Amino acid sequence: MTEVAEIFETMDWGPAPENRAEADAWLDAHARTFGHFIGGKRWKPGETFATVNPATGEALAQVTQGTEDDVTAAVKAARKAQKAWAAASDHDRARVLYAIARGLQKHARLFAVLEVLDTGKPIREARDIDVALAARHFYHHAGHAALRGETLPGAAPWGVCGQIVPWNFPLLMLSWKVAPALAMGNAVVLKPAEWTPLTALAFADICQQAGVPPGVVNIVTGDGATGAALAAAEIDKLAFTGSTEVGRVLRRETAGRGIGLTLELGGKSPYIVFEDADIDGAVEGLVDAIWFNGGQVCCAGSRLLVQEGIAEDFQRRLIARMAKIRVGDPLDKAVDMGALVHAEQKARVEAMLAQTSGTVHRGVAPEGCYLPPILVSDLHSADPLMQEEVFGPVLAMTTFRTPAEAVQLANDTTYGLAASVWSQDIDMALDTAPRIDAGVVWVNGTNMLDAAAPFGGMKESGFGREGGIAGLHAYLRPEAGAALAEPKRYDGTAAPSDMIDRTAKMYVGGKQARPDGGYSRPVFGPKGAVGEVGIANRKDLRNAVEAARGAKGWSASTGHLRAQILYYLAENLSARAAEFDARLKAQGAKDAAEDAVRALFRWAAWADKHDGRTLGVPMGGLALALNRPVGVIGAFAAEDAPLTAMATVIGAALATGNRLVLVAPETAPLTATDLYQVLDTSDVPGGVVNLLTGDHAELAPHMGGHLGVDAVWSFSSADISGVIEREAAADLKRTWVNFGRATDWADSDRFLRAGCEVQTVWVPFGL
Ligand code: NAD
Repeated sequence: MTEVAEIFETMDWGPAPENRAEADAWLDAHARTFGHFIGGKRWKPGETFATVNPATGEALAQVTQGTEDDVTAAVKAARKAQKAWAAASDHDRARVLYAIARGLQKHARLFAVLEVLDTGKPIREARDIDVALAARHFYHHAGHAALRGETLPGAAPWGVCGQIVPWNFPLLMLSWKVAPALAMGNAVVLKPAEWTPLTALAFADICQQAGVPPGVVNIVTGDGATGAALAAAEIDKLAFTGSTEVGRVLRRETAGRGIGLTLELGGKSPYIVFEDADIDGAVEGLVDAIWFNGGQVCCAGSRLLVQEGIAEDFQRRLIARMAKIRVGDPLDKAVDMGALVHAEQKARVEAMLAQTSGTVHRGVAPEGCYLPPILVSDLHSADPLMQEEVFGPVLAMTTFRTPAEAVQLANDTTYGLAASVWSQDIDMALDTAPRIDAGVVWVNGTNMLDAAAPFGGMKESGFGREGGIAGLHAYLRPEAGAALAEPKRYDGTAAPSDMIDRTAKMYVGGKQARPDGGYSRPVFGPKGAVGEVGIANRKDLRNAVEAARGAKGWSASTGHLRAQILYYLAENLSARAAEFDARLKAQGAKDAAEDAVRALFRWAAWADKHDGRTLGVPMGGLALALNRPVGVIGAFAAEDAPLTAMATVIGAALATGNRLVLVAPETAPLTATDLYQVLDTSDVPGGVVNLLTGDHAELAPHMGGHLGVDAVWSFSSADISGVIEREAAADLKRTWVNFGRATDWADSDRFLRAGCEVQTVWVPFGL
């Protein structure tokens, strides 16, 4: 043992190991062999595999590899328990969540040490962040459970939720999933990662002690095959945290099944340091952002962007700080960085490093499953280390000249999970933060997380939020409308040519355009042909998307301006109401222009009122949940109330700052073509609304797969929901599809949520 006197001589840290006796006693009490936790009971172990302490290589316990039958049994137990759980009073459910929070606090050391043994992360992180935040999550959601009737009246849970979590924050990710699910009245089947199942298994004890009714929480252990079985089981909703690769597989797997899906995926988060930043603060922030947990953090600030003028100085100070980072025994309270989770992970990181063209700077690490803090400088933005998630302690650095370039580089990635912005200039910091396409942005800080603050990604970092009110919606079943009847299709022989508009065009980029293929078709009403519309093909769709992408200015316009334009649109439609009504009637459509005018008025009203929230986070500063437009929405119009539905979709998309490519209803398409002139006279900028006419089933896969479309909504009577969801896996775009059910056009909240991404911005403020 090092003497205190010696330590004074060297001013080095002495060892300060956390006691693992309690964790060992818990493992021994279970004979270090675990079965699943199903229906409130621990099952007999099945075929097992070892879970290993990566810091030492010791096998900690044997854990059961879940089979399809195990998963089925767990889902059955959850199904049996869920109804009564949902029917329990808000107060009763809240008390159980509260008891879980208390239980986690009471056993904080057990959980922290088990987490360290299983993951190799430093005890400081497990103790001060993981366990503390997990308890905070259950406290916060005990509150949401208690208030459910007041804050979310009429809310209905999904039912049985499958939940799959990764290895980097096993207990914290469990709490992010279990707490909101239970608070809203769901039952869950959770599968922890195969490398780190222990805290989930210990959580089963807490559930028993806290009075969670048997079957409400079930834990099935196993690897990816068990996860795949869970995703394929008869669940109502799947919540997944893990890699983008597996997220994509799960998007395809669940497509067309009508179940809920939220994906929290990978990231490559930019860490932007401006010349006027507090440099030492920014250097210290990086220790937390990338190295603390060996870089095995989804929101790790792994792309360092430094303004040129300070780059040399910054790099020098960073390398000096790296040399002082202590890597070693994760149970040591004075250690900054522990082991990597698994030798396989270490090998993966080293393989990526071996290929870089940048300059590699390394700190110091012991032998074994450890890596030192690593900085790779002189990189181009296209370098794989700048683009691909490493999930190791590797910081990739490049420089920028201007704030505009910083934003451009920050957004030059398929991911959009998190970002940090460092500047002492308030204008610079607050101007830059909202320009970054990331679900979470920290100003002069990093990696701050809280149960009240929505967390989740944009772009290929996934969709859905965990935390706050936005996170609750992930566990509520949207109201399903009545099944849509097949719309009445009038058929016949084309009428004499003078009845037909041979100049059939679509509306793209604020102009009327002939369909690319030159094809058109007659439109029939009860009394025969009433006109003709173009048939859009893939190229027309591409042109429309391009026009919508070009109309970026709309997303940056003020709510006031958007309201003005929507009011004007309503006014112009109102002036021509009789004409629209006549045309609707001629096509045999049941709808009234007056209803559409009302819808536009309502959306004009919303345009400047969909405010974000200020979040009550328990840290100095302010977290803001901002509503950002999704971007370009591709939508398939409804046939049941063609004009009102189109007016609602146009109103909702535009009010929330989005640009739209709308495919007209198949059975009353002339109502869409009539809208061109109304749009023209209403000051809607070119490209903000693009209208195509054509076949929904034909266009659905192209819309779903188009990389320029950020979200697809379908209200169509055609059976295109599954196709859209499957194709959307390509870039993990957001989808809102109807599965052949009617939409409640008056449900503003649903449209507002679909039209926005919540961006959580953390800013230093007061206190
Ligand atoms: P992973 O995707 O390989 O595994 C995650 C989980 O999915 C594990 O439980 C695994 O067993 C399971 N799984 C694997 N294949 C599956 C399949 N085909 N079907 C169903 N389940 C399957 O990810 P990982 O390597 O364990 O974790 C690291 C990843 O997690 C990183 O990409 C990281 O960014 C991400 N992550 C994201 C967040 C977030 O909130 N966005 C948080 C933590 C980690």
